[in-house]
Amino acid sequence: MESTRRTFLTLTAAGLAAPALINAKPSLAKAQKKGKQITGVYTHQVGNFEVTALLDGALLLSPDWVVGYDEAKAADAFANQHLPAQPSGHAIPVNGYLVNTGEKLIAIDCGTTDDFTPTTGNYHKSLAQAGVTPDQIDHIITTHLHVDHIGGLIDAHGAAIFPNADVITNQTEWDFWHDDTILAQADDAFKGFINIARTRTAPYSDRITLAKTDAEIVNGIELVSLPGHTPGHIGVHLRSEGEELLIWGDIIHAPKLQFENPDWALAFDVDQNTAKATRARLLDRVATDKVMVTGMHMDFPGFGHVVRKGDQYQFEAAAWDYNI
Ligand SMILES: [Zn+2]
Repeated sequence: MESTRRTFLTLTAAGLAAPALINAKPSLAKAQKKGKQITGVYTHQVGNFEVTALLDGALLLSPDWVVGYDEAKAADAFANQHLPAQPSGHAIPVNGYLVNTGEKLIAIDCGTTDDFTPTTGNYHKSLAQAGVTPDQIDHIITTHLHVDHIGGLIDAHGAAIFPNADVITNQTEWDFWHDDTILAQADDAFKGFINIARTRTAPYSDRITLAKTDAEIVNGIELVSLPGHTPGHIGVHLRSEGEELLIWGDIIHAPKLQFENPDWALAFDVDQNTAKATRARLLDRVATDKVMVTGMHMDFPGFGHVVRKGDQYQFEAAAWDYNI
């Protein structure tokens, strides 16, 4: 046995020393390595609704952003997903979603701006890749008014990119970011958040629809209150032909960590305790009711189910839809 193995290794070594067979043929392929992904577009059917995930890019999530972070637990979570530990941070995507009901084309969040980070700002390229132009969009629902969700509303000159869409925002969310008392008491970092919420939506000021939650905005599309990350943070629950999907905004920011550690909060949560309570309640509900979910920081395209694993959770990505 040993001698056979040795013979094999000797032959392999000899083989490696000889010129590779394919070198005998002149190379034709001259394409450059891409070095990066092309735009990301993926469509999933929910009853009669066509839901398209659009990838804006990815952010490097630093452990410093995660409140409650424990390096050993994080390493366990990565290992359970067959990944190396990434103690200095890991990539999380930024997604937007489009819902085509057959009558309405609705964008749910629209990515970052071009200059937010070098690895984001591709929402509009993905939108074009999906064959959609901004003037075709009827409504834009914002899950909340953070830059990675509303940055794509305006161009580099501050002008509205979507000429025909109204912007549907939760009333509580709007009031919070437009409260001058909060602005006056904010530190410089938080003033930056407030400034973004105001400037990105300002060009749409004559077509903002302030919505209450837990009401259908069109047939089969309900806004759901999921407060904590921001005061008026919402999800969008789609129901059609007996199928459903909850687009849960930022309930999970770090899917590789927070399904196993749902009590870890984000430094950017306006109210961390409420965010944790909302996450706990929602994970329990979608796992119990087997509701398909996706979200703006779920690994692209993000569709799948939450399953219970002891007192933790695990995410099971939906099967790929081959209807191309
Ligand atoms: Zn976000």
